[in-house]
Amino acid sequence: MGPDILIIGSGMGGATLAAGLAPSGRRIVILERGERLEDCAEARDPAAIFQRGHFRPKEMWLDAEGRAFNPGNYAFVGGNTKFYGAVLLRYREADFAPLRHMGGVTPGWPIGYAELEPFYSRAETLYRVRGDAAGDPTEPWRSAPYPFAPVPDEPDVAALRRAFGAQGLHVSSLPLGVDLQAWLARGATTWDAFPDTTGAKSDAENCALAEALRHPNVSLVTGARVVRLLAEGRRVTGVEVERAGRREVMRAPVVCLCAGAVMSAALLLASASAEHPEGLANRSDQVGRNFMNHNLTGMVAWNPFRRNRTVYEKTIQFNDWYLTGGLGGEPLGNVQMLGRITGPILAGEAGLPLWLARHVAEHSIHIMAMSEDLPDPASRVMWKDGQVVLDWRRTNVAAHDLLVAKLKRAMRRAGWPIVLSKGFPKSKPSHQCGTARMGADPATSVVDPGLKAHDLDNLYIVDASVLPTSAAVNPSLTVAALALRAAERIGREALPA
Ligand SMILES: Cc1cc2nc3c(=O)[nH]c(=O)nc-3n(C[C@H](O)[C@H](O)[C@H](O)COP(=O)(O)OP(=O)(O)OC[C@H]3O[C@@H](n4cnc5c(N)ncnc54)[C@H](O)[C@@H]3O)c2cc1C
Repeated sequence: MGPDILIIGSGMGGATLAAGLAPSGRRIVILERGERLEDCAEARDPAAIFQRGHFRPKEMWLDAEGRAFNPGNYAFVGGNTKFYGAVLLRYREADFAPLRHMGGVTPGWPIGYAELEPFYSRAETLYRVRGDAAGDPTEPWRSAPYPFAPVPDEPDVAALRRAFGAQGLHVSSLPLGVDLQAWLARGATTWDAFPDTTGAKSDAENCALAEALRHPNVSLVTGARVVRLLAEGRRVTGVEVERAGRREVMRAPVVCLCAGAVMSAALLLASASAEHPEGLANRSDQVGRNFMNHNLTGMVAWNPFRRNRTVYEKTIQFNDWYLTGGLGGEPLGNVQMLGRITGPILAGEAGLPLWLARHVAEHSIHIMAMSEDLPDPASRVMWKDGQVVLDWRRTNVAAHDLLVAKLKRAMRRAGWPIVLSKGFPKSKPSHQCGTARMGADPATSVVDPGLKAHDLDNLYIVDASVLPTSAAVNPSLTVAALALRAAERIGREALPA
């Protein structure tokens, strides 16, 4: 007998959806184009990761000018979460309503925070989040405390926390999905951008997928790349899969697309047919549009007379300028530590000779400014001649520049006088979202508020592509919460007993 549900992708959306659906007893097959990431020396080798791009997929995308680039978008079981910084933040309550930014007004969500709150709590349990709700005035209300106490600051980060506090900033602990002792047992590195091979990081493979696969009705097929969806009328009738050089069509009454914001949009566009000439689920012409990815700037705050003795560094944040701080009081964004930047990482990212990179990295502390990118229909993913084209048009740049300037000032006052900064490049769309957005109106959105495609009765899209806004917090926990919520709906409505 064939499956009841096909899930395409085993990342944050797909694995969490599978975990939510597993207790239903339905036969669920997860199709994942990547393989499991096995332990290897490169997993903790910064030069392999940052200089040689060891884990990058062997594929090229095109930018708006037609230039080819190798994207920082990973294809392993667990998806991009294998490499993520494991910051598991909730959107702030205000993010769900329209907000006036320096770069325009966001549309708001078709659901409010209260609707998602129970699923945020469940997602925090599933992903074993370590945090402390105290200390951050923007922290939304919660029905349950964090499951575990926060990851401790290292002494140099504790000093920075105090120095920010002396400036009146409200520093809090980053909510993190990492078992610190287990992580450090494999090697003395940070976890941000380093893949987990030990189960220490709460990524989609270790948490949600492991939970789903405890159920005998759930199975995972790796090395299975979906190349297109087949549809007739309002139903997806099959999924064309390439595996070990062969193509086959798999069928199920319910299909859930969870390939990530770029690849899900690309798959829908690649599935154009005579009946659906603009691609699947695309009567609104919104598939691939509204691509967002946060404006991110990393900072190396240098003091030749101080040393940074940290190993992981990534434990604090502040949101004092999250909802205010702009020229007219508009939001600017979030500030959080980067994972520890070492010499080889700085050499890879900034193109410095290794000796200089080592010196700077040892005498600097490392932090990041993150601002909201607003939905713009012209910012989009396209599919041309079998290739992804990513035309990302950054928005709200003035707000980000202001946040960067304020943070630089705060770093200098904290005793780190020389602040070098660099925007994250467009080739690393790590916080990609928005390309199949949710909404009540089929004319302006791709999926309904329950994540079912407006145009198709058995297609759900459950990944970062459905986010109508990017907010200015890391996206994963919101993707997980939406997936758990979608699982309830699919179990209830799409699959009658
Ligand atoms: C270096 C890095 C650091 C990050 N840090 C954070 C952080 O600290 N906190 C945070 O919240 N977020 C972070 N993110 C972002 C986070 O990883 C993503 O937001 C999240 O993984 C998105 O979930 P998703 O389900 O949309 O996509 P993914 O998790 O990427 O899952 C998509 C899956 O679909 C598979 N797939 C794609 N195409 C196909 C196909 N055709 N057929 C079959 N399978 C397919 C992929 O291989 C992948 O497994 C980070 C990302 C990166 C790269």
